[in-house]
Amino acid sequence: MSWPGVYPRYRDYLPPISDEHIVTLQEGGTPLVRAHNLERRFNLPCALYLKCEGANPTGSFKDRGMTVAISQAKQSGAQAVICASTGNTAASAAAYAARAGIKAFVIVPEGQIALGKLAGSMIYGAHIIQIQGNFDKALEIVRQIAEKYPVTLVNSLNPHRIEGQKTAAFEICDALGQAPDYHALPVGNAGNITAYWKGYGEYFAQKKIAKRPVMLGFQAEGAAPIVLGHPLEHPKTVATAIKIGNPASWQGALRACDESGGLITTVSDAEILEAYRLLAQHEGIFCEPASAAAVAGVLKLAQHNYFNRTSTIVCTLTGHGLKDPENALSAASTPTHIVRAELHAVVRAMGL
Ligand SMILES: *Cc1c(COP(=O)(O)O)cnc(C)c1O
Repeated sequence: MSWPGVYPRYRDYLPPISDEHIVTLQEGGTPLVRAHNLERRFNLPCALYLKCEGANPTGSFKDRGMTVAISQAKQSGAQAVICASTGNTAASAAAYAARAGIKAFVIVPEGQIALGKLAGSMIYGAHIIQIQGNFDKALEIVRQIAEKYPVTLVNSLNPHRIEGQKTAAFEICDALGQAPDYHALPVGNAGNITAYWKGYGEYFAQKKIAKRPVMLGFQAEGAAPIVLGHPLEHPKTVATAIKIGNPASWQGALRACDESGGLITTVSDAEILEAYRLLAQHEGIFCEPASAAAVAGVLKLAQHNYFNRTSTIVCTLTGHGLKDPENALSAASTPTHIVRAELHAVVRAMGL
């Protein structure tokens, strides 16, 4: 039987929605890949796994929450949904709304959306409104619109998003037969770290796992409000998916960190881009820059002997690299050769 999607698979853990309202693209069921080459290269004393969320239908983990949020919106008779987005939420909302026959409005920062995310939102037929401001401003505006007008907010402030996203923690436990010792992920608006912690907590309460992991969250140096302890007016980072100055789920992130005995810390853009290249060139996994922040953070902690010998670490790779082709082209170290269309010229370019 093929993977049914996160709602059908984990319905016992999710809010009740009747079958005819479920909107799914069979999201979830994503690969959990062991990073043997990085383990060897960095002499890691532990097992490192990558949860490849770029394998979701629109290329990011946002689909897990969106299937539940849009199904719920459909069940409650919503005619339109709205979100603020750095790109992936927009693409996901647009796809699920299209499938549900609901109108989608997406509010994005002008000129700051990676090409693949904008292309997705456009082809799925969303109404795209670019604002001359950043994500935080967009979120402020959509919150007000959703309060005053008959449109349903599908940002992660919508609790159904968090509900759907927690299923990634279930999948990891189901695959490993237990919780990992550590779970690392990038932190932007902080919905995902909140959702994972909820998911691990529920499996723990149901005695499906004997313990919960230590949660490790990573923000980009130029966009690290939680680490700094105050909101930022002008967050800056190459990792646009986590370029957020005032995270909506700030408290959820702190709770995950405190209750698990974990930490939230920073990685630089240079470290993010290095991990981004390493994942592609040594593991064959092309994620987007924001996703690489988790791996960058784990490699940094490993250098300080943070992990012990028997640990299992899972990093969530939140989105697919093809979302952001421009960053890939500029970060790739491999030169391309242009030569005459002749055998000898090609052989010479090959260095043979
Ligand atoms: C949304 C997103 C994030 C950040 O997740 P939050 O829940 O906002 O912390 C990280 N990476 C990618 C690729 C994303 O799309």
